[in-house]
Parts: sequence; structure tokens; C-alpha cells
Amino acid sequence: RAKAEGGNTALCYDADQDQQTRDRSALAMDLRNALKNGEFELYYQLQNDVKTRAVTGTEVLLRWNHPKRGKVPPSEFIPIAEETGLILEIGAWVIRTACHEAAAWPAPVKIAVNIAQVQLSDSKFPRFVEHTLKRSGLDPARLELEITETGIIADTSKALQIIHQLKRLGVRIAMDDYGTGYSSLATLQAFPFDKIKIDREFVKDLGRNRQSDAIVKATIILAESLDIPVLAEGVETEEHLRLLAAQGCNEVQGFLFGQPMPACDIRSLVTRLAADRSGEATPRKAGE
Ligand code: C2E
Ligand code: MG
Ligand code: MG
Ligand code: MG
Repeated sequence: RAKAEGGNTALCYDADQDQQTRDRSALAMDLRNALKNGEFELYYQLQNDVKTRAVTGTEVLLRWNHPKRGKVPPSEFIPIAEETGLILEIGAWVIRTACHEAAAWPAPVKIAVNIAQVQLSDSKFPRFVEHTLKRSGLDPARLELEITETGIIADTSKALQIIHQLKRLGVRIAMDDYGTGYSSLATLQAFPFDKIKIDREFVKDLGRNRQSDAIVKATIILAESLDIPVLAEGVETEEHLRLLAAQGCNEVQGFLFGQPMPACDIRSLVTRLAADRSGEATPRKAGE
């Protein structure tokens, strides 16, 4: 394989490309040891109700603390993990760690975990999820799995079968990055989604771009008619929130409500939420 790549670059030599290829294989090597060296960490980002602004859940986002390069973003290492097959092992670590961390929170806040294509075509996957839920003690209703259209397009009937098995466990399934893939409408019809996540690509220009406005509006109407709740990703401004609320969007996720945060921070936040809730539950004394 290295030889074949060398042949390619010789045909059409490009120093930048060459450097990139070397970078990638170096990263791929490091990725092999990242798990056992404990270099991965989970971050959590809030998801909020559009109307009440209350926290409805969190998305789990993987971070790689590389000993030399510092934090490597998922956009750089997830594709490599997928190509090398390492994503199966890494993905299992993510689910195990997220379930154990969330099970120890003092309030039953939901977690949404990103799932790669290979995980969804692995027939052992549902049993792994079932086992992990039992061992961690996490209520299956608190676990949502985010899948993308590319994640199911490879083998639709196999993916559908696995998704049905997962749903029987009581786990929820979300369609991630909606609108950026190929088979949106057919997929919506065939798959039993519990949530549709509108991609940031369409949210970022809301109110400033007619196409974005139209796509978001149409998606929300479609989801509403199918009885599937919609979450908009990448919500950064009050203006975004206002426009999404006007369209009837149910939930949002984005920098407006918070950056992804490490496990200890989300834990303290959930602890505060739990305290607030029990505060609401206790009747107030007269005159208070
Ligand atoms: P995603 O699942 O669509 O996750 C949302 C991404 O948008 C996250 O990027 C998040 O940090 C970012 N984001 C959230 N709100 C905002 C905002 O208001 N503005 C902007 N500009 N960005 C926002 P992140 O953490 O870099 O992850 C990128 C992608 O990597 C994810 O996209 C997901 O596809 C993948 N990924 C992350 N963790 C995992 C994992 O554990 N397993 C797998 N298979 N993929 C993962
Ligand atoms: Mg996601
Ligand atoms: Mg997304
Ligand atoms: Mg995305």
C-alpha cells in the first residue's frame, strides 16, 4: 500500500500532499496506542429545549490528547480511525466510558453517542450495547445513538436490522447531520428515527441566506409531519434561536448554550441542575 501511494505521488508530485500523507500515517500509528495510553477523553455538549431553554440532554464528543501534538480534533482522527478499522475499538471505549460516566451523575440527563458506519454493520453491536448498559446501570432510555446517512447507506438492510435490535433495548436513534448525505427522504421513511439533527451547515446562515432558511423550514415541516422531534446543530446566536423557535424547532445544540466540556464540568452542571430541580419540588414557605 505504501508503495502504491508512493507511485501515485511520483506520477503527480506534490510536496504538500506528500507531507499530508506522511502526517496521516504518523497519526495512524499513534492512534494505535492512544487507547492503551489513555489519551482519549470525552467532552459533553448541552442540548436545550427551544421554548424553555431547559437542558434536554448532552452529546458525547471524543477528544484525543496527543502527547506531542496536543488536542487533535475528531475531524482529523475519526476518518483515520475509520480507514484503519480502529474505530470499532475506539467506539466501544466511547460507549463504555460515556455510559459509566453518565450513570454516576446525580440526575438522569440523557447522552447522545456518535456511531460510525462499521459499528452499525457489526452484528455483535446490539449485544455489546445491551451488556454495557447492564454493567453501567444506565437506563437505556437515557442513551441515544447518533447515526449518519453515510453510516447506513453501505448496507441498508443490515443497518436497519441492527437498529431495530437496538430499539428493542430501549435505546433511542437520532439521524445526525441531516441534509448533508444522499438518501435523506428514503432513509426517513425506512428508519425509525427518534430525532432528526439539522446540520450546522444550514443553521449558520439562518436569516441571511434564503436557501438555508428554506432548507431548515422544509426539514422542520417534514419532521413535524412524520412526528419526529428536530434538533438544530451549531446554534451560536440568539438570532438563530429566535428564527428556529419561529419555525417550530424543538431543541438546539451549539455555542449559544455552551461549548463541549470535560466530564468533571458536565458533572458539576448536572449536579446543579439536580439541586435546582429538587428545589422546585419542595413547596415554598409563605411569604417567600
Ligand atoms: P457531530 O456529531 O455533528 O458533532 C457536532 C460538532 O459540532 C462537534 O464538533 C461540536 O463541537 C461542533 N459544534 C457544536 N456546536 C457548535 C457551534 O455552535 N458552532 C460550531 N462552529 N461548531 C459547533 P467536534 O467535537 O469537532 O466533532 C466533529 C465530528 O466528529 C462530530 O460531528 C462527529 O461526526 C465526529 N465525532 C465526534 N466524536 C465522535 C465519536 O465518539 N465517534 C464517532 N464515530 N464520531 C465522533
Ligand atoms: Mg453527532
Ligand atoms: Mg451533527
Ligand atoms: Mg456535523
